Amino acid sequence: MTDCLFCKMVSGEIKPDVVFEDDQVLAFRDIHPQAPMHVLIVPKRHVANLNGLDDALLGGQLLQTAAKIAEQQGYAESGYRTVFNCNDDGGQTVHHLHLHVLGGRRMTWPPG
Ligand code: 5GP
Ligand code: ZN
Repeated sequence: MTDCLFCKMVSGEIKPDVVFEDDQVLAFRDIHPQAPMHVLIVPKRHVANLNGLDDALLGGQLLQTAAKIAEQQGYAESGYRTVFNCNDDGGQTVHHLHLHVLGGRRMTWPPG
């Protein structure tokens, strides 16, 4: 999608701080990190949000990538959080599906 920020990162038009990439997903550091590790994992094809996820394998790839990155960054044992924000009440601001992976500090519950 031409006017999508994360599609521009996938195409290379905008260059994020990439931590992982394969043929299906791209993972990069969030520009406004909310924890010592704050990575966003996006599918390479445009999907607006979780409501549009029509591929269970892709969903699994996003989740497995989160676990892999947490392990690589040294947070697998101490713990981390994964979040999909969906639409307005979910707090979604970029309308290309992304999985937040946060680690390196103690998270609170319930979320704000
Ligand atoms: P959402 O609120 O949609 O769940 O999350 C969008 C995330 O994208 C936010 O955490 C925000 O900081 C991040 N973000 C917005 N613009 C950019 C950008 O240009 N580069 C990077 N790396 N992250 C961005
Ligand atoms: Zn997109």
